Amino acid sequence: MHSSIAHAGTSALTRVIRSMIAAEGPMPVSRFMTLALGHPRYGYYMTRDPLGAEGDFTTAPEVSQMFGELLGLWCAEVWRLMRMPRPVRLVELGPGRGTLMRDALRASKVTPEFRSALEVHLVETSPVLREAQRATLAAPGVPVAWHERAEALPDGPLLVLANEFVDALPVDQFVKAEDGWHERRVEVGADSGFAFALMPAALPGFEDRLPPRLRRQPPGALLERRDYGPLCEIARRIAMFGGAALVVDYGHARTSFGNTLQAVRAHEYADPLLDPGEADLTAHVDFEALAAAVKERGVRAHGPVSQGVFLRRLGIELRADRLRRHAGATDRAAVDAALSRLSGPAPGMGELFKALTFAHRDLPRPPGFDSAEGPGDLAA
Ligand code: SAH
Repeated sequence: MHSSIAHAGTSALTRVIRSMIAAEGPMPVSRFMTLALGHPRYGYYMTRDPLGAEGDFTTAPEVSQMFGELLGLWCAEVWRLMRMPRPVRLVELGPGRGTLMRDALRASKVTPEFRSALEVHLVETSPVLREAQRATLAAPGVPVAWHERAEALPDGPLLVLANEFVDALPVDQFVKAEDGWHERRVEVGADSGFAFALMPAALPGFEDRLPPRLRRQPPGALLERRDYGPLCEIARRIAMFGGAALVVDYGHARTSFGNTLQAVRAHEYADPLLDPGEADLTAHVDFEALAAAVKERGVRAHGPVSQGVFLRRLGIELRADRLRRHAGATDRAAVDAALSRLSGPAPGMGELFKALTFAHRDLPRPPGFDSAEGPGDLAA
């Protein structure tokens, strides 16, 4: 096996994973990621609230109320396009502190019929974040239910939001060599730290199952693949009962090659193999693969469009103007900063982050997706 050496870690989960590898051999990257984020006792999300300035990273709803408000207005408009079913389940996957949902519910007040039709359902595995969501959502006075998994949602029409959720779903990695594609796994290196290693045997038929555009890569090409499980379950339900989902995340519009597995700790990049459970571990979203996976379940997909384009189409500039008018001078500067962070180019989120929607085949194009831009629109 080829391998590169990492520093030995000290987290509790390091010991757990080291003994699993000793017993079972090199570990798939997806399993390492699942344990790092979701191990019941030591997983990153199980033990802490990682969000905000004091935490490890800041998400769009934590940057400004404008984000959740615009997504709430999007939901109200899509509900109208759905012909106003009552009740409608407003679902969020991985709702963090509940900030996006709180802001969306505030904005939904402009459409009282929508607000009175909705029930909130949150899919969340972290006990710490569930508590935060309970506190944030106590005031709005809308019924809220929690679920461990999307499979547990009640039947019926759905409106689904998922911001920075898909990046936390585990990926597997594959590397092209002279004799074909090999899985990249995690092993224990010489200094007892974790290291990547290629499985010695090439995977039979791997290249033939790739879309033609992705075949014949040079040796060294790395491909990531993700199981979109919860999104596929949502797509199946939307195809059956109606509705739409909106996915916002960082990633690429079309499948591309390269390692995007990344760890973030205290707002800095960290070594993804060092101290699992102590840093956020994610990989970029492949929106082309996501669109293909949900379309297989019978929905129509639109996008992705960049977050900047999407938020401008939803009227973020008007919303910012309104906030500025009611604000003092320091708050006005904060509105400007939030506007460029959410919708501007790097270091803002406007280009790297993208929005994709998928919806029941009879639903007209949801707002923000009025022109064909991405692979979700190809061969719909
Ligand atoms: N959407 C929020 C939080 C993003 S962090 C925001 O924008 O601020 C990722 C969220 O997904 C956290 O709430 C985390 O606990 C949750 N999560 C991660 N993996 C999950 C899984 N497999 N099932 C359900 N929730 C998950």
